[in-house]
Amino acid sequence: MNCSVSSLKEDHMEACAYSVLDVAEGGPAGGVADRSVLGSRLCHELAHSWFGLAIGARDWTEEWISEGFATYLEDVIWAKAQQLLPVEMEEQAQLKALLRWRRLSDELQHSQEELQILRPNMEKTGEVSECGASLVKHALNPDKTFMQVHYLKGYFLLTFLASEVGECQLIHFFRQFVMKYHGQLILSQDFLQMLLDTFPDMLKRGLTLTAIYADWMDRPGIPKVRHRWCELVVKHGHSQAYQDVQHFLVHDQAMGVYLYGELMVQEKAEQQALARRCLSLVQEEMDQSARRVVEEMIL
Ligand SMILES: [Zn+2]
Repeated sequence: MNCSVSSLKEDHMEACAYSVLDVAEGGPAGGVADRSVLGSRLCHELAHSWFGLAIGARDWTEEWISEGFATYLEDVIWAKAQQLLPVEMEEQAQLKALLRWRRLSDELQHSQEELQILRPNMEKTGEVSECGASLVKHALNPDKTFMQVHYLKGYFLLTFLASEVGECQLIHFFRQFVMKYHGQLILSQDFLQMLLDTFPDMLKRGLTLTAIYADWMDRPGIPKVRHRWCELVVKHGHSQAYQDVQHFLVHDQAMGVYLYGELMVQEKAEQQALARRCLSLVQEEMDQSARRVVEEMIL
C-alpha cells in the first residue's frame, strides 16, 4: 500500500504512527512476530479514533463500520510506523490478506449462515421502535461473540473498493468522509452513497448501491474474496490456479473487469490468452458497458 497515513489527518496521525513503533518496541520482550502483533493491535485501536469514536455505527448490527475499517486501516498505519518501502508495504499487505482470507474461509465454513451477514436487518437497518429502542440482531448469540466476520468481511469489502478506486484515493476519501460525518452515527448507506457519488466511474462498471448490498452486505459468505485470491494468483503467475481465475471471470463478470486489466498488464502470454478465452466465454451475456471496457483492454 503505497500511500501515506498522513493523508488521514495530517501530521497528528503521522506522529501517532511513529509513537506506535516506540511502544511496540518497548513492549514485553519478544521477537519480531510479537512486535508485529502488538504494533498491529495498537494501530487497530488508533484507527478506531476515526471509525468508532469520531463516527460510529447508528445501528450496531452494522458493526463492520467500526471493525472492518479498523482492520483495513491497521495495515496502513502499521506500514507507516515501520517506515516500510512501497514494495515491502505491498508484500506485507498481501501476506495479511492471505492470512485473513484463510481465517475467514474457515469461519464461513464452520458457522451458521445467518451470522455471516453484515447487514442482517437489511432495509430496516437503523430503524428504532416507538419507544426509541433498536434491536441488535444476534447480539446475545454466544457463537457470534467469537466470530470475526465483521472484521474480516468488512476488511475484504474495503480492499475490494480500494482495488476499484485506488488505495490512496480511498484513504483520501476516508478523510473527507470522517470530516463530513464527524460526531455522527452513520449507516453503511451513508458511506457507500458518498463513495459512489465521489467516484462515479464505479457506476459505469455496474457497482450500484444495490449491487454492493446484494454482493457484500445482505447475504452470507463472501464470494468476492475470490477476487482478492485471483489478484494474487495473477500477480504471482500461480498457473496451477488459473482455473480459479477463469471461474471467477465467467461467474462474476461485473466484479472481474479490473482483473482483466491485471491479466493484460503482466504481459505474460499465458495470462493474456486466459483473458481472451474468458471474454469469449461470456461476451454474449456480459453487461454492454463492462464488455466495452474489457474489449478496450484486451483486443
Ligand atoms: Zn476493533
